[in-house]
Amino acid sequence: MAVKKLSKEQFLQVAPLKSIKTQIIVFALLATIIPSVTMGWLSYVQNRKFLNEKIKQELRVVTSQVSRELDLWLKDRLYDLRVFSSSYVVLENLEKILREGSAHIENVVAHRRLKDYLESVRGKIVDYQELMLLDLQGASVATSSDKVTTVKLPERWLERAQANKYTIGSAYWEETLQAGVIVIAQPIRTANERLLGVMVAKLNFRTISKVLVKYAQGEIGELYLITQDGFLLESSKSISAKFLETKLLNSTTQKLFSQEGDPNAYLSYHSKPVVGALKRMSELGWGVVAEKERAKAYAQIVRLRNLTLALVVGLLLIIGLAAYLLSLSLVRPLNRLTSGAGKVAAGDLDVDVPVGSRDEVGYLTEVFNDMVARLRQGREELAAINETLREKNVELHEISITDSLTGLYNRKHLMETLDREVGRSQRHNHTFSLLVIDIDHFKKYNDTYGHLAGDEVLSRLASVFKESIRSSDYAARYGGEEFIVMLPEIGPEQGVEAAERIRHKVAEERFGDDGESIKVTISVGVASYPESGEDAESVIRNADEALYEAKELGRNQVVLAGAQKKKKKRKKSKAK
Ligand code: GH3
Ligand code: MG
Ligand code: MG
Repeated sequence: MAVKKLSKEQFLQVAPLKSIKTQIIVFALLATIIPSVTMGWLSYVQNRKFLNEKIKQELRVVTSQVSRELDLWLKDRLYDLRVFSSSYVVLENLEKILREGSAHIENVVAHRRLKDYLESVRGKIVDYQELMLLDLQGASVATSSDKVTTVKLPERWLERAQANKYTIGSAYWEETLQAGVIVIAQPIRTANERLLGVMVAKLNFRTISKVLVKYAQGEIGELYLITQDGFLLESSKSISAKFLETKLLNSTTQKLFSQEGDPNAYLSYHSKPVVGALKRMSELGWGVVAEKERAKAYAQIVRLRNLTLALVVGLLLIIGLAAYLLSLSLVRPLNRLTSGAGKVAAGDLDVDVPVGSRDEVGYLTEVFNDMVARLRQGREELAAINETLREKNVELHEISITDSLTGLYNRKHLMETLDREVGRSQRHNHTFSLLVIDIDHFKKYNDTYGHLAGDEVLSRLASVFKESIRSSDYAARYGGEEFIVMLPEIGPEQGVEAAERIRHKVAEERFGDDGESIKVTISVGVASYPESGEDAESVIRNADEALYEAKELGRNQVVLAGAQKKKKKRKKSKAK
């Protein structure tokens, strides 16, 4: 059964995520990303909480301080105004003016004095934009200003004055003075508690602005004052818009007032994202707002987040690279092993995989190399054995077709060769000649010189035959002291010539030891194909008959098969 074999690429394609390299890298990245992201997230949350607390604290402290300072400031201004309103100059001159029927000149002087007084007081305190004296109808009796101004007082100002209480008005833009003002009023009462009118001060925002600027230092971006409706009164920064015209969103105002002291994220009046908190002023009800730009407030967090991210990414890169290198160090030798094993499987044993590192894979590689070396050695030994076997087989074959005494081919081989030669000659319409050679009186030789000497003759004659024939000719030992020589492509006449040549050579040979000079002769029968037979047996038989005739004729001669019969016929016909 054929084994279906997948290549490495095909194999890995089936499950690409299961390759060792991917597994190591994925594991290393997960092992890095999970703890580092968790730690980063925890520290981010913790830091954010800490920073929020810090921001809350900062905003709370600054808004509380500012609102307290502004409350104090207002208290001081109310107190000042109370002091000035009960001054002798004010009481005396106002009484004079209000008294009915006082002389005109007296009135003028009193007006003059009041104006001077108001001006001098205004000059002393920078927060006063204008000082005014109003009678109980609300009409201006005297003012520190040369211009004609109006005054906006809450409706219940007279009621409060009668109850000996101060009045605080709302803020508004005084067109004549070109300034935003807050109006405060203190009742003017005589020694016997008679209410003459009210002393009104229009306070400007100079000190408020200074306080805001003073506290808007360091981490705080902007400090400002808003009305309960969210209109901007004064800021630590110079505002281009007109007084009381810039406004926070209603929802923002509501949020800030309802969650007093808590930091909120919102869009400020200049539409920038900020974090801010509000503190309500006790007397005026206004809100002191402290703000930080959101980006700046959380810059530290962002920096920390970026640093954490950079760290995580850096770690991922380093660990990823390390994992990649580790996987390579594992996979590379494995790949080398795989390709080595592939070669071995394909039959190439000249494989020596470099061992590389001294680890488990290195050990496996060494074992593999050792295994391949053994296989190689086994195969070489097998090849050597095969070669020996082959040589032995050749030798055996040689032995099986060779006569051991003479080194000529034996009878078995002769018969096979003859059959082949007859077939070949038949196919190609060729001829060949066969010489059957027999030693003359060899029995006698054996009897005279011994069997060993006879063997020596057989061997020597074989050498003579071999020397006398062409390489394409063939000599074999046919029987005890009978030989057959086959001459391919040779006809009867040439066959006889060759036989004669051999016979002469044998006759010239000398045998025997110790200077003995013994002659040996041979008789030869010659037959040719196809003249003397159509197959090997009949050619041999005819050559044998010719040999017998040669013996009959006295030995040491060559007879061609059929030649004697022709001679006899001729003699008979001559006798007739
Ligand atoms: P001729 O052929 O001339 O008629 O006489 P011969 O004496 O040679 O007679 P034959 O051919 O019948 O003789 C065969 C002799 O050859 C018999 C045997 O002693 C001898 N002979 C056969 N094989 C061997 C052999 O292997 N070694 C030796 N030394 N002699 C052998
Ligand atoms: Mg014989
Ligand atoms: Mg003989």
